[in-house]
Amino acid sequence: MHRTHTCGELRLEHQGQDITLSGWVQRSRDLGGMTFIDLRDRYGITQLVFNMEEDAALCEQARKAGREYVIKVSGTVRERSNKNPKMPTGDVEVQVKTYEVLNAAQTPPFTIEDDTDGGDELRMQYRYLDLRRRNVQEKLILRHKLAIATRSFLDGAGFLEIETPYLIKSTPEGARDFVVPSRMNPGEFYALPQSPQTFKQLLMVAGYDKYFQIVRCFRDEDLRADRQPEFTQIDCEMAFAEQEDILTVFSGLTAHLFKAVIGADLPDFQRMDYATAMEKYGSDKPDIRFGMEFKDCAPFAKGHGFNVFDQAEAVLGIVAPGCAEYSRKQLDALTNWVKRPQIGAKGLVYIKYLGEHSVKSSVDKFYSPEALEAWCKGIGAKPGDLVLVLSGDLNPVRKQLGELRLHMGRELGLRDPKVFAPLWVVDFPLLEWDEEEGRHFAMHHPFTSPKPEDVHLLENEPGKARANAYDLVINGVEIGGGSIRIHDRELQARMFDILGFTAEEAQAQFGFLMNAFEYGAPPHGGIAFGFDRLCSLLGGSESIRDYIAFPKNNSGRDVMIDAPAPIDAEQLKELALKTDLPG
Ligand code: ASP
Repeated sequence: MHRTHTCGELRLEHQGQDITLSGWVQRSRDLGGMTFIDLRDRYGITQLVFNMEEDAALCEQARKAGREYVIKVSGTVRERSNKNPKMPTGDVEVQVKTYEVLNAAQTPPFTIEDDTDGGDELRMQYRYLDLRRRNVQEKLILRHKLAIATRSFLDGAGFLEIETPYLIKSTPEGARDFVVPSRMNPGEFYALPQSPQTFKQLLMVAGYDKYFQIVRCFRDEDLRADRQPEFTQIDCEMAFAEQEDILTVFSGLTAHLFKAVIGADLPDFQRMDYATAMEKYGSDKPDIRFGMEFKDCAPFAKGHGFNVFDQAEAVLGIVAPGCAEYSRKQLDALTNWVKRPQIGAKGLVYIKYLGEHSVKSSVDKFYSPEALEAWCKGIGAKPGDLVLVLSGDLNPVRKQLGELRLHMGRELGLRDPKVFAPLWVVDFPLLEWDEEEGRHFAMHHPFTSPKPEDVHLLENEPGKARANAYDLVINGVEIGGGSIRIHDRELQARMFDILGFTAEEAQAQFGFLMNAFEYGAPPHGGIAFGFDRLCSLLGGSESIRDYIAFPKNNSGRDVMIDAPAPIDAEQLKELALKTDLPG
């Protein structure tokens, strides 16, 4: 038998028992007469004692155990004279009687401790060692709990978990597909799904009116910090459901997940339409843990001979509460911050509202103190506040000020990771115009239905139509998104037409879906949650990678198994793929 207990299990109540443990050597300490080993497994750490006087040979052996050796010991549990209240097993130790090395280990390339000395790339290369660390393990445990809680809630609500295929067909809409050559159909390719979107809609046509799946999705996009080429969604769809039904069910799911996984009670879910989110926060995923909403400064800024503002399409500001005393240095730092290429503002104007009749600004030259104070008051600033103003074309200014707002929120400690502020953003535009391609793209995806009252706009001004689409945003992070779908063949065809497909192209690409709509398609809608992101939000960590057992690095590589990798000429030939390689 390899073990009678785990390394996290023994307590005072086990005193006197003969037990067997197996695990990894976390560290050993040789104190001359005694040798101590901290033995670790998934469940914890237990202290082992080897006594020179009792068994010198055994003690000698134990001294040779290096870090990460896998060993098995039997012995007696006894009370420690030197208790460690920080460890659950800290009241006891095991007086070892037999000792066996199950497998020796090389010295690991980094320390297997919470605060490791290993760099990112090294830890990715030896991910199986990194995964031994307690704080990494905790992240995978959280992920597991989230999956279980999701299944239990949705099962309880009558949803069926149904798998959809991973080998499907490449489609032109959305992100770039990963493709898989078909050996049996030379010259043809499958694509890996970016999401099970069309399949879940077909399941609705098939009558499975509540579907979900915790499912891997694949997108061949340039990687950004928080992206992985393969990621996981909680994918859901409901028939005979309107937006209201969906928001209710999935507010319920979200609240359940927060409670079940981290014991947090979410406040009421707020709602905001897209237009308001953009106007007040410059973002379709505003962090509403704090205010600092945008204020239109144009009425106060224009007409004073300051060209920059006079000519700007938009002059927008935020009020940073209690920051009027910011130093020159702090203000310069803020200015430099907004001027960085990632933000791209040309400059930053500030007004310090020091007190009644006391203002100081970077544009004192153009504005009288009275005008500046009227400006401050006009946008709701109070004495002691700092007004920060950006100007330029509306959309870029909104984006820049949105970033500045988040930055100030962080500086002022208003973005507490333990506070959660869920928000449904609704009424997204149906389409967005792409300057480069000179055509509309679906903002969500082509299966999203317009709001019924906006359908008439599709004829002449489709760009103005709003979608029956919604996103769930928590703390400025988009956690999920979905829509009520089109279930009518004509409307779907019209949509493809607006997106620049010919009727033939639409039929070739999406005929299977549009045909299905002719066989009794119920009204339906759904949503998908970013499972990895939800993990990182619940776990209070920035990175989704930490929550994936075997993630890819920033170049989309798995540096542990070294993938992607070339395949040999024989394989290429079999797949009917051309190769320049000899052979
Ligand atoms: N399939 C969509 C996505 O991956 C989500 C949805 O509309 O349900 O974003």
